Amino acid sequence: MANRNDGCNAGIHADRSEAGKRSTAVSGFHALTRLQQGLAALKAEHLERRRPVLDGAQGAHVAIDGRRVISFCSNDYLGLAADPALVAAAHAALDACGVGAGAAHLITGHHRFHHDFEAAFARFVGKPAALLFSTGYMANLGVVTALAGRRAEVFADRLNHASLVDAARLSGAAFSRYRHLDLAQLESQLAKSTAQDKLIASDLVFSMDGDIAPVDALLDLAERYDAWLYLDDAHGFGVLGGGRGGLTGRARASDRVIYLATLGKAAGVSGAAVAAHPDVVDWLVQKARSYVYTTASPPLLAACLLESMHQIETGEARRARLAGHVARLRTGLADLKTGTLMASATPIQPLVVGANAEALRLSRALLERGLLVPAIRPPTVPEGTARLRITLSAAHSDDDVAQLVEALHELA
Ligand SMILES: *Cc1c(COP(=O)(O)O)cnc(C)c1O
Repeated sequence: MANRNDGCNAGIHADRSEAGKRSTAVSGFHALTRLQQGLAALKAEHLERRRPVLDGAQGAHVAIDGRRVISFCSNDYLGLAADPALVAAAHAALDACGVGAGAAHLITGHHRFHHDFEAAFARFVGKPAALLFSTGYMANLGVVTALAGRRAEVFADRLNHASLVDAARLSGAAFSRYRHLDLAQLESQLAKSTAQDKLIASDLVFSMDGDIAPVDALLDLAERYDAWLYLDDAHGFGVLGGGRGGLTGRARASDRVIYLATLGKAAGVSGAAVAAHPDVVDWLVQKARSYVYTTASPPLLAACLLESMHQIETGEARRARLAGHVARLRTGLADLKTGTLMASATPIQPLVVGANAEALRLSRALLERGLLVPAIRPPTVPEGTARLRITLSAAHSDDDVAQLVEALHELA
């Protein structure tokens, strides 16, 4: 979806936008004038986005816009973003390899740390090969454009992440979107398609609803219609399947399945890894423009990622704590009158309250109590399903979650 990062903006401080303070000294600069009118219109409709400023480290308790809050809106599901083991790995790598990669991967920027991480990642998720991109956004652009040319067709769940939508558009392929999880509609689109190459692209865990795509049923369709299946597990890697993410055994074994994990969420670092058949990885090295035409990410990040994978692999205690928080929240809010938790088993726990004003009221009132929970409204989510998007982390304490449950009951 186009605007998935309403993020933690809701309710924090009034607008302090830079653009509002500037004026056009230049006369006759119509493009800038129109842009300023556009900004004013966004502000008038309360659709303007801004960036709350974080001080210190990411975590369950953060200082944001100068205010201490318990944060229920990061994607740092395992609490690894500021973990001492990762910080130590970063320090060690910094001493060994400096800061910048200095060149693209195909020139001299492909460091041993990148290379070792790819091998370890492929082994961990049970695929034969992997490729490390600088971000998930870039990975999605690179993979979809490399596999789906102008004569291809891309089939996408309507609730897919914005980067998958942009990727399909950039590819120039025909682009068909099906209703969320509506595999019957997907099948009729596949049946009608005359494209030679077909690619089904889906989020594995949907970021606004927290629900999980039916991987094996998607794979059945991919097999029946000779399509690739590209699964974006940005929110599942590290959390689901003992940390290995949401792939099923069949999907792991299938050469049709291309798996994406982003590494700035549960993995706590930055980047994204694509795991697939070795020839797919080779093809991406040749053709994925967002891989080829960019400077490699700092190798120290890859060193951190190796440590992060070790933490994920041995992270049962973190996942158990996280699952405990999910269960506590769901039990605690089961009889809440102001809203209903969506049926989610992931750390994304949306509390649907319906009306936009009510979602905002709750978000603001929670913030007054030092609890940061964003209100997500249409058009990010369907009309009438405004919600508080609660995300939980192993970094939360039992008491953090209890405070949120108690506050929501008091505000009902
Ligand atoms: C966050 C996210 C991305 C983008 O990953 P970045 O590494 O943040 O660029 C892609 N897909 C989904 C589903 C995401 O949630």
